Amino acid sequence: MKNVWEEALFNLAKAAEAMDLEPEILERLSTPMRFTEFTIPVRMDDGSKKLFTAYRSRHQDATGPTKDGTRVHPRLTPEEIKALSLFMSIKHAVAGIPAGGGKGGIKADPSAMSEGEYERLIRGFIRRLEPKGAFVDVPGADIGTGTQAMAWMLDEYEQITGSHFPAAINDKPFELGGSRGGYEATGWGVARCAVEAAKEQGLESDGLRVAVQGFGQVGAVAAWELFEQGYAIVAVSDIGGAVKNSGGLNIPALVAHTAETGSVAGFSGGEAADVRGILETECDILIPAAVQDVITEENAERVAASIVVEAANGPTTPGADTLLSSRGIVVIPDVVANSGGAIVCDFERTQGLSSDWWSLEEVEQRLNSRILAAYREAREKAVEKGVSMRLGAWIGAIGKIRSAMLLRGWC
Ligand code: NAD
Repeated sequence: MKNVWEEALFNLAKAAEAMDLEPEILERLSTPMRFTEFTIPVRMDDGSKKLFTAYRSRHQDATGPTKDGTRVHPRLTPEEIKALSLFMSIKHAVAGIPAGGGKGGIKADPSAMSEGEYERLIRGFIRRLEPKGAFVDVPGADIGTGTQAMAWMLDEYEQITGSHFPAAINDKPFELGGSRGGYEATGWGVARCAVEAAKEQGLESDGLRVAVQGFGQVGAVAAWELFEQGYAIVAVSDIGGAVKNSGGLNIPALVAHTAETGSVAGFSGGEAADVRGILETECDILIPAAVQDVITEENAERVAASIVVEAANGPTTPGADTLLSSRGIVVIPDVVANSGGAIVCDFERTQGLSSDWWSLEEVEQRLNSRILAAYREAREKAVEKGVSMRLGAWIGAIGKIRSAMLLRGWC
């Protein structure tokens, strides 16, 4: 596969074929409804002016306002942004979120900028993007942006419009109208899917062995949640190392160790393990929660888990997917497993529009029932069509977008 955009089109075409989708609708979904490329001039600390390239892709808005993150990365490509907007259309439809798919990005390296330069870049993005608000297109955070960047985006938006409108920007700090549980959402959803998959396979939760690749926002929260539910987290890795303990690692202690040292490496509650071998750990559930394309045709034969829960986006290559399936390994696809963040973003918008702020317990409860519904819908579609859960999820999502387009008379 050449790039992420081609990979997205491959998944789309595969689902279209399995559901006999009208060519006209496939054509519509195969290109973003609107893609903009623009530049942002930023005054640097040394007085010079630097021009940065930025993008915003709005894949389709038949199902609601386009929504989702803003990626800031030095090697960002327009294809990546287009692909991510298509994935968001699918993810929103899978989770029953009334939104279309959006994605934005700036080609820049935040680690090479001062805080002031970065703030001017983020504010410049909003000025040049001219976002149209909660009912049209809602930017959120992604790699290279966090709650502080979203606070600047909201402030810039509100300075331009002269009004307070928290629902116009997602992933804000709670103090500015963000949702409780925004940080935990994706990890919680991953854990919920793992529990459901184990139940479906008839596995008892107590003592079930879990290995987690990536111990950041998603991996650590999912591991902590499963640890609390009695699962044994037998191996964890991050970019700096890996630890294992066949009796189960103490996850709160490992989180504290990671916060202090920057890595899981050197944790005294386990032994050092091979970072590359994490995906081959003897366990029941494997959670890749780091980067894409880590389960490949080269290592899929050695995956020892019976369930893979895709917390990262695209951790399994298409060839590996086929191999895992032929070995009877159940894969809970990314568009279902990591949709918790998108679901709570939708909650954030709903709370912003209604000024009705929910407690952490309420957010968690609503998230659980929403992600469970998405999981079951994808599973049912997979069974109905005799395909993998990934394809089932894509077919179900495209079916919903198709209906919205037909009802609007677009096709
Ligand atoms: P993060 O940056 O907080 O954590 C990433 C973790 O992966 C870190 O522990 C890092 O050390 C580790 N890592 C990176 N490369 C690695 C490698 N080669 N081997 C082992 N570990 C490695 O990121 P995150 O927010 O936890 O996101 C993790 C994945 O989940 C990404 O693929 C992201 O796109 C996806 N995702 C995140 C969210 C979210 O809400 N944060 C939502 C959907 C999908």
